[in-house]
Amino acid sequence: MRMVDIIEKKRDGKELSTEEIRFVIDGYTNGHIPDYQVSALAMAIFFRDMTARERADLTMAMVNSGETIDLSAIEGIKVDKHSTGGVGDTTTLVLAPLVAALDIPVAKMSGRGLGHTGGTIDKLESIAGFHVEITKDEFVKLVNEHKIAVIGQSGNLTPADKKLYALRDVTATVNSIPLIASSIMSKKIAAGADAIVLDVKTGAGAFMKTAAEAVELATAMVSIGNNVGRKTMAVISDMSQPLGFAIGNSLEVREAIDTLRGHGPKDLEELCLALGRQMVYLAKKADSLEEAEEKLQEAIRSGRALEKFKEFIANQGGDPSVVEHPERLPQAAYRIEVPARQDGVVAEMVADEIGTAAMLLGAGRATKESEIDLAVGIMLNKKIGDSVKAGESLMTIHSNRENVDEVLEKIYANVRIAEHAMAPVLLHGVVTE
Ligand code: URA
Ligand code: CA
Repeated sequence: MRMVDIIEKKRDGKELSTEEIRFVIDGYTNGHIPDYQVSALAMAIFFRDMTARERADLTMAMVNSGETIDLSAIEGIKVDKHSTGGVGDTTTLVLAPLVAALDIPVAKMSGRGLGHTGGTIDKLESIAGFHVEITKDEFVKLVNEHKIAVIGQSGNLTPADKKLYALRDVTATVNSIPLIASSIMSKKIAAGADAIVLDVKTGAGAFMKTAAEAVELATAMVSIGNNVGRKTMAVISDMSQPLGFAIGNSLEVREAIDTLRGHGPKDLEELCLALGRQMVYLAKKADSLEEAEEKLQEAIRSGRALEKFKEFIANQGGDPSVVEHPERLPQAAYRIEVPARQDGVVAEMVADEIGTAAMLLGAGRATKESEIDLAVGIMLNKKIGDSVKAGESLMTIHSNRENVDEVLEKIYANVRIAEHAMAPVLLHGVVTE
C-alpha cells in the first residue's frame, strides 16, 4: 500500500477501505508516514468528507493506536458523560455524585483545563488534600465499593489522535465534522465506557456556532459510538453564555455543592437533570426518562447525592468538611464588582471570552505549563435576559491581584446591554441515532 494512492483516492472523493485507514493511522503513529502526507489527506477529508463506515474505522484505528482502559472489573453498566467544551460548566462535579448515589458506577478519567475551558481535576483539587494520583487497582476498587472515583488521564491513550490533532491545528483542518467526531469519540471509547452521553455545545462560546451545526456534529458522534458497539446519545445545549453563575475552580465546587443541595442556578440544574436522566436510563436504572428524572430529584431531596459527594471527597484524600463549610475552600483576597455602564437588558455575555477573562485572573492555563490559582474566578450576578440599572453589578471578580484592568476590559468588550433581549434556549434537543 502506498500513502500517495490513498491521498489521491480521497482527493477524488472515493471511499477508503478499513485496511487503508488502518495503514494511515498505524504508519503515522509509528513515524513511517510523514506529516506532509497526512496533512494532504486531512485536507482531502476536509473537502470530501467520510462515510459513516470510514468515520467508525478511523475512530477505531485511533483507539487501537495506544492503550485502552479495561473497566470490565467494575460491575454494572459504566456510563460516561462528555462535553464538547464549555465555560463555567460545573455539570461533571454535580453529575458524578448524583448518578453514583443511584448505584450507577462512575469511573471517570478526567483532564486539566486549558485555555478558556476548566478541567474537572483542577476544580476537585481546590478541595484540600484531594488527589487523583491513584493506581488503576485502587480506582477499580473505589468504584466497586463506592460507585465513584476520578483518575487522571493516562498519557498513553490515543497517541494517533494527539499527533493528528496537533497537525490539524496548524493545517487549517480542525473544523471538519468527521475529524472532530472521530477525535472526540476515540478518546471516549479508549477510556472504556459501555455507554456515552454527549453534551454538544452550541452558541457564541462553542465550536459549533449554530444549533444546526451542533446537531450535525452530535449525529456524527452518536453514529460512530453506536456503530462500534457503545450506546451513545447526545444532548444539544446552549453555550452562548457561561453555565450557572460560577467560573473558576473553588467557585465551581461551591456551586456544585449548592446544586447538590437543590439550590443551584436554574440553567445548571436543568442541564444536569437533562444529562443525568439519559445516563440513568442508559445504565438501565429506570424504564423511562421520567422515572430516571424522578430518581435524580429524589437523590437531591433526600440528601443522598450530597452524602455521596462527601464520601467521594474523603475516599480520595480530600477534606469533606468543605461541603458544610464552603468558606474553607480557597478564597481570593479581593472582590471587585463590575458595574453596568447603562440601564437595559443583558443581551450578550460571550462565553469563551468571559472564560478567557477568568483565565487572565489565573483560573485557567494559557499554556499547558501555566500554574493556576484555584481561588480566583468570576461570579455572574446577571445573565442574558436580566434587566440591569447603570451602576448595578454584572459580575463579581474574585482576584488575588488588586489591578484587574485587563480583565475588566475583556469583560466590557464582551457584554452587551440592549433595550430588549431574551434568555437563550438552554436545551436544543437530543440526538439518539
Ligand atoms: N476536541 C477534540 O478533542 N478534538 C477535536 O478535533 C476537536 C475538539
Ligand atoms: Ca458554573
